Amino acid sequence: MPLSSLGWDDFFARQFAPYSTGGFLPARVALEHKHAYELYSAVGELAAECTGRLLHTATARADLPAVGDWVVVRVRPDEARACPEQRRRADIHAVLPRKTKFSRRAPGSPAPDSRPNYVAIETEFGQRSGEQVIAANLDTVFVVTALDSNYNLRRIERYLAAVRSSGAMPVILLNKSDLAADPAAARVEVESIAIDAPVVVLSAARDANPAHTLAPWLAPGRTVALLGSSGVGKSTLINRLLGTARQRIAATSAERDLGRHTTTHRELLITPSGALVIDTPGMRELQLWDVAAESLDETFADIAALSAQCRFHDCSHRSEPGCAVQAALDDGSLDLGRWQSFQKLRREQAYAARKADPRLERENKAAWKKIHKTARQIHRAKYGE
Ligand code: GDP
Ligand code: ZN
Repeated sequence: MPLSSLGWDDFFARQFAPYSTGGFLPARVALEHKHAYELYSAVGELAAECTGRLLHTATARADLPAVGDWVVVRVRPDEARACPEQRRRADIHAVLPRKTKFSRRAPGSPAPDSRPNYVAIETEFGQRSGEQVIAANLDTVFVVTALDSNYNLRRIERYLAAVRSSGAMPVILLNKSDLAADPAAARVEVESIAIDAPVVVLSAARDANPAHTLAPWLAPGRTVALLGSSGVGKSTLINRLLGTARQRIAATSAERDLGRHTTTHRELLITPSGALVIDTPGMRELQLWDVAAESLDETFADIAALSAQCRFHDCSHRSEPGCAVQAALDDGSLDLGRWQSFQKLRREQAYAARKADPRLERENKAAWKKIHKTARQIHRAKYGE
C-alpha cells in the first residue's frame, strides 16, 4: 500500500526527514490498545510497541501515539515470525508532529460541571498530563445532526467550535432527511450559523449512495471522522461508507487470537473510495470543553464583527453606551439564543484555559482574593467590625 493512500504528504515527509537514514519507516496508527499499537505501513500491517526511551521521555500523555498519528518505527528482524501470515512486529521510536488533533482533558483537570460520561483515564501517564489526544491528523470532521428531535442549532455551534479548535475542517451533515417535514428550510437555518462550513442534507439509511453525496471529502488518502450525539446515525453512515468492508472485518475477528494477518478491529478504516475514516470511542464521547478562543471567534464571526463596532474596545456588552451587541439584540438582528450560547462557551473556554495554565489560575485566585478583601474593607468602613 503506497503511503499516500494512508494520508502521507509533504508535511509528514518533511517531519520524517531527520529519520530517513537508520532503517526507520513511517507508519500510521490504526488502533491503540494499552500501549500496544496496530499500524499501517508501506510493508503492510504491523503490531508495535513504544520503545522504553519514548515512554521515558514522554512528559505528557499527549506525547504518545494516538489513532491517526504518523509514527517512526523500526521493524523487528524477520526470523521472529512463526508463520508468513503473522503480522510483523515493530518498535515505535517517535511520533511525528500532528497536523490536527482532537484532545480531551485527562484526570486531574476537572470539567467545569459534572459530566456523566466522562471517562477517567487510568494509565501510568494519566497523572502526568492534562491532555489526551483521541484522534490525530483528521482533515475533515462530519458534524452529524438528525433532522428529528435531536436538531438543535446551539449544539451544532458547539461542535463546530470543537472541530475548528482541532484544526480540521467541519462539514455539517443533516441526517434523516426522510423524517424532516422541510429539510430545505432546516438547511437554510443551519447555513445561517455555519459561517464557511458546507451543509449537506442526506439520509444515511435511505439514500441510494451516501458516499457519492460526500465524495468531495472522501478522496483517496483524506482522513475524516464523525462527531455528534448518540442516535444521530453515525454508525449507520460509517457502515454505508465502508460497504462490505466492515462486515468482512467482523467475519475475520475470530482469527485475531491466532495472531494472523487479518483485518481485525481497527479504529482507522479504509473506505472503498480510498478515504480513511477514524471511528474511536473517544470521538464518540468527546466533550466540548477544549475549545480555543480563536475558534470561538471564527464560529461566532458575526458577534466578533459586532463587538468591533462597540464604542468602547473593552465593552462588556452589558450596559455600556454605544454597544453594538445590545443594539443588535434589541433590533433582533442578533438572536438571543445565539448570544447566550456564545457567552456560555466563552465562560467554559476561559475556565478550561485557567485549568490548563496554573499561572492564569493563580492570577484568577489572586484577583478574587483582592475583590473579597476590598469587599470586606468596604463592609467594615460602612458597618464597623
Ligand atoms: P449513532 O449512535 O450516531 O451511531 O446512530 P446509529 O447509526 O446507531 O442510528 C441510530 C438510529 O437511527 C438507528 O435506528 C438507525 O437505523 C437510524 N437511522 C440512521 N440514519 C437514518 C436515516 O437516514 N433515516 C432514518 N429514518 N433513520 C436513520
Ligand atoms: Zn458592546
